[in-house]
Amino acid sequence: MERAATERLFFALWPDGALQGRLAAWAKLAAGRGRAMRRENLHLTLAFLGDTEAALLPEIKALAASVQFDPIRLPLDRVGYWKHNRIIWCGASEEPQTLSALVADLRARLSAAGIRYDPKPFVSHVTLVRDAAGLPEAPAWAPLIWEAADFALVGSVRVEARVTYQLLQRFPAKAG
Ligand code: ATP
Ligand code: MG
Repeated sequence: MERAATERLFFALWPDGALQGRLAAWAKLAAGRGRAMRRENLHLTLAFLGDTEAALLPEIKALAASVQFDPIRLPLDRVGYWKHNRIIWCGASEEPQTLSALVADLRARLSAAGIRYDPKPFVSHVTLVRDAAGLPEAPAWAPLIWEAADFALVGSVRVEARVTYQLLQRFPAKAG
């Protein structure tokens, strides 16, 4: 029997190029022997679906389009280091309610439709450096504000050692 075609999918907040550029610049300086994320790959994962039947894409896009959410003002006011996965990340010391609500609604709709995703609780963060030994003392982190007016469905494609993300569709917030 032929195996169904799959795509590796996730939902994310996607920074504009200017914000990606700032984050990438800091990541490069902070990376040490770690691996700074490439500028164009920087994002905040909302729900990770992983390998998903491509035939489900129209349904997934439709349910994402039905999510009603307000624009998100996310202060990226801190950096951190997680030993268990050796990443350096940035994020908000207080998660805005607009973001929690978006994730809850999106995940609830995925669940209701029987679309599988990683059920680990959402911990909002942008991964900046992988394979890091720790958080460097320098450079200092300069807080940024991320104004997100949409979220995206993204496909993750690996070509040899390199992961490329393809924005499949963007879903705008309610007009604010
Ligand atoms: P690589 O796996 O090659 O290091 P990557 O992690 O950037 O690359 P993916 O594995 O496709 O690429 O992951 C896409 C996004 O989803 C990343 O933000 C990643 O951290 C996140 N992610 C991956 N696996 C999971 C998972 N099991 N649960 C939650 N988020 C995940
Ligand atoms: Mg991965």
